[in-house]
Amino acid sequence: MTQLRVPGPTPCPPEVLKAMAWQMVNHRGPEFHEMLTEVTENLKKVFQTRNDVLLLTGSGTGGLEAAVVNTLSPGDKILSVSIGVFGDRFANIAKTFGADVVSLKVEWGKAADPDDIKKAIKDNPGVKAVLVTHNETSTGVTNDVRAISKVVKDADKLLIVDAISSLGSINLPVDELNIDIAITASQKGWMVPPGLAMVSVSPAAWKARESAKMPNFYWDFARAKKIYDEKKENPWTPAVSVVYAFTVALKMMLKEGINNVFARHERIGKMTREGIKNMGLPLFAESSHASNTVTAVSIPEGLDGKKFRQVLREQYKVVLAGGQQTLDGKIFRIGHLGMVDEKDIKEILAAIQKVLPLAGFKK
Ligand SMILES: *Cc1c(COP(=O)(O)O)cnc(C)c1O
Repeated sequence: MTQLRVPGPTPCPPEVLKAMAWQMVNHRGPEFHEMLTEVTENLKKVFQTRNDVLLLTGSGTGGLEAAVVNTLSPGDKILSVSIGVFGDRFANIAKTFGADVVSLKVEWGKAADPDDIKKAIKDNPGVKAVLVTHNETSTGVTNDVRAISKVVKDADKLLIVDAISSLGSINLPVDELNIDIAITASQKGWMVPPGLAMVSVSPAAWKARESAKMPNFYWDFARAKKIYDEKKENPWTPAVSVVYAFTVALKMMLKEGINNVFARHERIGKMTREGIKNMGLPLFAESSHASNTVTAVSIPEGLDGKKFRQVLREQYKVVLAGGQQTLDGKIFRIGHLGMVDEKDIKEILAAIQKVLPLAGFKK
């Protein structure tokens, strides 16, 4: 079987794939009402929140755009904390809709320093919201959202978190951490195909919604909440099959226990990093903030990164990701989120070890 180990889409359990083949039902009928309610309530358990959780049909980027346009107005000053490609994307969305974006850019491979965020908020009076990535998939770095939340909430700002590649895999208790909007997407740690973004919306975010003037129609949170509260429906036709898949995947996650899911990702993350280091390959992310869902590996002198991934794919059926933007050719990335266990990592590491010398690597 192919080892698809990119940071999304991720492999799905056979039971989940079977659900994708269920016959269609009326998305405004009783069976679907029941499924949507079950999925929403189970998602709240994993988000660890009592806030509203909305299912939006679209990819994660759609969820990021939705968070921006539902809380902000053109001209609003926001602080964007970017530690990589996805942090930059979040800032670009806000810019596109006319926000006055103050950028705090951190060297790629490093995590954001909460003190720097504190200072940036202080130096830029009038900042309304802080946009931050929990787990930066392009660099394999996880930000300390607990510490970041402290400085953002001490200053009484909205905290909007891209948790697309972490929620459901790395512990992120939304209520405990006072996250106003947390965004994730089905194809990352949820063991479900692409098609849905899920967002939690706090009372403070709803308050911001009331005065937000950025244009939106499809992504309107108020409309989504109203029809869900009244009828257990989505405003538009949702990705019905992905909701089916979620009913199965969430049952599996809750049966395993969310703390066990988080612990498994911790073990897997550690095992991957140790294995890579033992082969003499350098890790890209600073070790104190290394991600437990994606490991970025620096491509050392002599190793042909392109050939390495090609041989892995063609001869060992192990599919890894390359680097994005300026990291293209400089790193490769191993996604280890969702359906993954120790046996998978053993297999992948063994394949990597065999292919390294074939692609020019000399320890
Ligand atoms: C994957 C990812 C995105 C983009 O999600 P899409 O579903 O591809 O739109 C954004 N942010 C992070 C951190 C991601 O991992």
